[in-house]
Amino acid sequence: MFDGKTRVGIYGGTFAPVHNGHVVAAKAFMEQMKLDYLYIIPTYLPPHKEIDSSDSPRRRLRMCELAFKDIDGVIISDMEIKRGGRSYTYDTLRELSGEDKKLFLLCGSDMVLSFDTWFRYEDILKMCYPAYVRRERDKMIENRIIEKITEYYNKHGVMFRRILTDPIEVSSTEIRAAVKEGKDISRIVPPAVAEYIKENRLYE
Ligand code: ATP
Repeated sequence: MFDGKTRVGIYGGTFAPVHNGHVVAAKAFMEQMKLDYLYIIPTYLPPHKEIDSSDSPRRRLRMCELAFKDIDGVIISDMEIKRGGRSYTYDTLRELSGEDKKLFLLCGSDMVLSFDTWFRYEDILKMCYPAYVRRERDKMIENRIIEKITEYYNKHGVMFRRILTDPIEVSSTEIRAAVKEGKDISRIVPPAVAEYIKENRLYE
């Protein structure tokens, strides 16, 4: 398993805003895959969803910096923001790959289910070791994930590794809605992120 190569993790997303589910997943990913470092990469434009134009990439990046500031080995990268356009994981992996590195990619359960719609997903599977983390406790979703990763394994010979966590059932959509309704979000986002959202009046 340890061959002298640098073990590099990649965790991309819209992060609008970054929340505790992301932070818990990222920490478990680093520990369980024994990563030397982990890139957190906010998208410029997510390929599969619409994003409010007021939710600027730089603000989403800043919130990631705040959320992960105390975690050693995390690098918040603006590579997708700098690249512009639709952000494809395939391009990001190409940019980060190298002879001396092993790349590990983390996805939440929803992303595992739609992974075969990603741009050049077959190539992605050749470029990294994919892993997933559960977002929910729902047994039916768990069964669908197992079916799906078995299908990927049978078709492509690549197995998604499971990162074990106590799932945190939160989404950025819920947080944006909670802020709009004036609800408290301090238990579902890191404190510095809650402060930033308030100071900049985001999602109101
Ligand atoms: P939205 O509600 O706006 O769709 P989101 O909460 O799904 O956002 P993203 O920024 O789209 O957050 O997610 C980035 C990555 O983090 C994806 O791989 C996603 O599956 C994963 N993820 C999101 N929420 C969680 C969570 N609660 N636990 C673990 N992983 C998560």
